[in-house]
Amino acid sequence: MKRALITGISGQDGSYLAELLLAKGYDVHGLVRRASIEDASRQLAKLGPLQEQITFHPAALENELSLYKLIAKVKPDECYHLAASSFVSYSFEEESSILTTNFSGTHFLLASLKEAVPDCRFFFAGSSEMFGTVDAAPQNEATPFNPRSIYGISKLASHHLVRNYRNQYGLFACTGILYNHESPRRDFKFVTRKITAQAARIKMGLDDTLYLGNLDALRDWGYAPDYVQGIWQMLQHDVPDDYVIASGVNHSVQEFVNCAFSHLGLDYRAYVKVDPRFYRPAEEVPLRGDASKIRQILGWQPTKPFEAIVAEMVDHDLSLLT
Ligand code: GDP
Repeated sequence: MKRALITGISGQDGSYLAELLLAKGYDVHGLVRRASIEDASRQLAKLGPLQEQITFHPAALENELSLYKLIAKVKPDECYHLAASSFVSYSFEEESSILTTNFSGTHFLLASLKEAVPDCRFFFAGSSEMFGTVDAAPQNEATPFNPRSIYGISKLASHHLVRNYRNQYGLFACTGILYNHESPRRDFKFVTRKITAQAARIKMGLDDTLYLGNLDALRDWGYAPDYVQGIWQMLQHDVPDDYVIASGVNHSVQEFVNCAFSHLGLDYRAYVKVDPRFYRPAEEVPLRGDASKIRQILGWQPTKPFEAIVAEMVDHDLSLLT
C-alpha cells in the first residue's frame, strides 16, 4: 500500500486529492495546523466523512524541526505540497509571512525529504501567477516568468528550489503550473464561488444584488478534480518534470455571471452592480495556459466544459440553501 502525505489537505485541491488517493487504496496522511484539528467540524469540513480514513498530523510549515520529524515518522512514498498562503496584500508583515510559509515551507519539506526519505516523490503546486505579466498568450513551460505579486514570487522561488533538488540531488520532484481551477469546494473569496453562492441566494429570494469588480477580467478556469488527476499522474510517470495544467480557454467574469444566472433562469443584468472596492484593472495580455505537454506526455485531459463547471457550482450552492 502506497503512503501519501498531503499538505493543504483541508483545502479544495487537498480534499479532492485525498478522495482520489483513498479510492486508489493509498494510506493517506495530512499535515494540518493544530487549530484545524481542534476545530475539525469547520476547518476539515471539505473532507466530510473521509476524515475517518485519514491520519492527521499537526505541524506548521514554518517549523523546520517539526516538519523533519513528521517526514521521518510518516516516511511517505509520495508527498503533495499544496498548502500555501495566498493573501494579495503588500503590507510588510504579510509579505514576510507569505514568503516564510510558501518559500521556506517548501524548502523545509524538500530538505527533510532529502535527508529522511530521498526516494519519496514530491509534487509542488505552482501557479499561473508565476508568469505574472506576460507578452503573449497562451503560456507554456518555456514561457519566461515575470511575477507581479509576492504570492507569484514565492511560488516561483519555490519552483526554482524544486528544480534544484531534482537536478542537484536527484529527487523525484515536479511542479504543476496550475491555472485557476474551480469547483463547489472553492473558497468564497474567489470570484467564481462568490458569484454562484450569491446567485443561489438571489434565486431563493434571500438577496437581490451581487456586487462585483471588473466584469471584463479574463481567466483560464478549469475543473479542480481534473487538475488533481493531473497532479497524481505527474508522480506516476517514469521521470520527474514540470507541467502546465490549464483549460486553454479564457472566459470573462461577465460570461461566468451570465452562465450562472442563466442556469437559474435569471437575467444577471437585473442583479449585478459594479462596486469599485472589488475593482482590479485587467491584464493587458491575459493568462491562458497551453497544456499540450501534459496532454501529450501523460495523456491528461480535462473532463468538464466551462458551462458544466458553473452549473455544478450553482446547483451545489442552491442545494446548501434548500
Ligand atoms: P485570482 O485573482 O485569479 O486569484 O482569482 P479571483 O477569483 O479572486 O479573481 C478573478 C478575476 O475576477 C480577477 O481578475 C478580478 O479582477 C475579477 N473580479 C471581478 N469582480 C471580482 C470580485 O468581486 N471579487 C474577486 N475576487 N474578483 C473579482
